[in-house]
Amino acid sequence: MISVEEALQLILEHKAALPLEEIDLLQSMGRVLAQEVTADRDFPPFDRATMDGFAINSHDFASGARAFLVEQIQAAGAPQTILQETGSCIEIMTGAMLPVNTDAVIPYEDCLLQDKVAKVQIEHVKAGQNIHRRGSDKKAGETLLTAGVQITPAIVGTLASVGLAKVKVYKLPKVAICSTGDELVEIKETPLPHQIRRSNAYMLAAALQGEGIQASLYHLPDVPQVMEASLEKIIAEHEVLILSGAVSKGKFDFLPQVLATLSFESVFHRIAQKPGKPMLFGTLPGQKVVFGLPGNPVSTFVCYQLFFRPWLRASLNLSSVEAYAQLTQNVHFRPNLTYHLPVKLHNHLGLLQATPIQSTGSGDLTSILEADALLSLPAVPDTFSAGEAFPITLL
Ligand code: AMP
Ligand code: MG
Repeated sequence: MISVEEALQLILEHKAALPLEEIDLLQSMGRVLAQEVTADRDFPPFDRATMDGFAINSHDFASGARAFLVEQIQAAGAPQTILQETGSCIEIMTGAMLPVNTDAVIPYEDCLLQDKVAKVQIEHVKAGQNIHRRGSDKKAGETLLTAGVQITPAIVGTLASVGLAKVKVYKLPKVAICSTGDELVEIKETPLPHQIRRSNAYMLAAALQGEGIQASLYHLPDVPQVMEASLEKIIAEHEVLILSGAVSKGKFDFLPQVLATLSFESVFHRIAQKPGKPMLFGTLPGQKVVFGLPGNPVSTFVCYQLFFRPWLRASLNLSSVEAYAQLTQNVHFRPNLTYHLPVKLHNHLGLLQATPIQSTGSGDLTSILEADALLSLPAVPDTFSAGEAFPITLL
């Protein structure tokens, strides 16, 4: 049995080399940028007024002029005008080009406009005031964004500002979710006393939707021949298989043996952790990967968060940030396993604190309803004190 760290390392070594695709800008939110983006022109592209008011030549003000005749209006979106006379001004709007022969903008608030004459009410005017200089944010050709960032609204705005109606992103993998088990029925059905609804498949599908992935859902009965025939078809059409159940030591846990007949190569089976000990991971021909998650709902969820998500992020060339939180109470856990605890997070004087959520075990799906994160306690020691900080996986 390998450690959580070793399992994660092995999974990351099998990250996918995802190809690029070009998509419409408005479809790109949340996707991962796969191109460098440079400024196509200076940012801003011209000297622009940052206030509504009057554009003057600061030399005139320094020479004592305080009343400036308004020659014309410089609107945003209008070509650059020219100040003709010494001692006069041009009324200007925010975002407009600074007129030729002017070098300062005095806001309306600091002037009195009477009969087309702007009378300046302040005693200090500096050259360059209220002007956003051409190229002062970025110069044409400068890098604005590099590949490997998740697209946010600010990034969409930046891409729009350089005229990218289409954007290159990493293609998302084709994922199949297969639940297993003869005790499971469709969610629309009324389960008999010995049956339950196949909730895991929906939980996994929803989690994948959050990543922008529309997975296909399948169900396999606990019958090796049927499993094999179905899996063969599913494998042909997908790059990633997320299986739930049938990977432990039970009499009906047929997945490892069925996968073996389908050229599956196991990378590891079983991790020294709770929940999720029976997890299986391996590859199929054609750089395909298989995540065999144990069927208990919390195990499925924890393994998805701790192993599938990092695999996906690494495949998308996204970096991961490590986060920690302080336990608010002592925890005692004897077995030599990494213990992943669902926790509620709160801020205490700027410190992130984690309070474990009561649970009856890995079959207790309701225990993760309120969880903000999973807090991972190392295999040793077996007592963890309030105030100690441990790594968390945000949900
Ligand atoms: P298994 O890993 O197949 O031994 O399943 C362990 C436990 O998880 C059993 O109690 C199953 O009934 C339950 N389980 C397995 N798959 C699902 C599923 N898709 N949805 C809900 N519970 C499941
Ligand atoms: Mg089962």
